Amino acid sequence: VLEDRGGELLSYKESRVVKVRSVLVGSLEAMDAGGLALRWARHLLPVRHAEPAAWAALTGLLDALDVPGGSPRARLALAGFRLLSSVGYALELERCVQCGRPCPEGAPAFVDAARGGLVCRRCGGHGKRVDGRLRAIAARAERAPGEAREGEDDGVTPPEWMGESDAGELLGILADAMAAHAGMDVSSGR
Ligand SMILES: [Zn+2]
Repeated sequence: VLEDRGGELLSYKESRVVKVRSVLVGSLEAMDAGGLALRWARHLLPVRHAEPAAWAALTGLLDALDVPGGSPRARLALAGFRLLSSVGYALELERCVQCGRPCPEGAPAFVDAARGGLVCRRCGGHGKRVDGRLRAIAARAERAPGEAREGEDDGVTPPEWMGESDAGELLGILADAMAAHAGMDVSSGR
């Protein structure tokens, strides 16, 4: 903290480290995951507008990344669905966005993020196919509460079975969604 003693060059009045996430900053993978989430937020969130749900999704992810163990990319993927939903861009993952036909529980489906979610085969669904149980946890993450109370399921903690390829599958869908809604060119990293 620099105190103002009448000098002219004080631009830095107060700085406070609110939280040190030491595990997070010690893991390159976790740092990457956190960095991508912050980039998503920068593209999705309006400037100078409070978005408490999005904020909760982000800080929840950073806190989770600060706990050793688990896959940072799996955590990132579920937090990404939560983030999208918190700003009103939830993907429809339970029925076809074109004809409204519900997708049977546990069945795989084609997801077209630019069209807003599942597209059934009859309606021309193609491209990225998502596994049924992966689809279910992504949908659950979208509905997750912004902040869970102690001991409650937060809806964005990856299940045990979720592996790196599952995370990659969901991250691919998220990349499409970010490109569609936020004009974010994921490949360039900007
Ligand atoms: Zn359809």
